[in-house]
Amino acid sequence: MGPHPDCANPPEDCRISVVNSAATAQSWTPIYDGNGMLVNSDPNMLVTELHCTTCERTWYETNQGGIIERSDTRPDLPQPPDMMPTEGGV
Ligand SMILES: [Zn+2]
Repeated sequence: MGPHPDCANPPEDCRISVVNSAATAQSWTPIYDGNGMLVNSDPNMLVTELHCTTCERTWYETNQGGIIERSDTRPDLPQPPDMMPTEGGV
C-alpha cells in the first residue's frame, strides 16, 4: 500500500490503516512457460480502503495482476456477486 497521491506529508509521518478490503473470486489456475514465467496473470481485483490519520484522507487502492491504482472514489469490482468482503483492520 502507498500514501494518498496528494498527501503532502513525508511518507514516514503518515499513519495509514486498512479500513476495509474486498476481492473478486474468479477461479484462476496459474500457467507457466518452460522458463517458469507466468503467462496468465491473476484476473482477480483486490480493493483496499485506506485511511491516513495524519492527513485525514480516505482513499482506495486497487491491485489487479500486480498493477496498483489509487482513487478517491470506490472502484467498481468487476463481478460483485462473487465478492468476498473482509471486515476490519490490521
Ligand atoms: Zn497522509
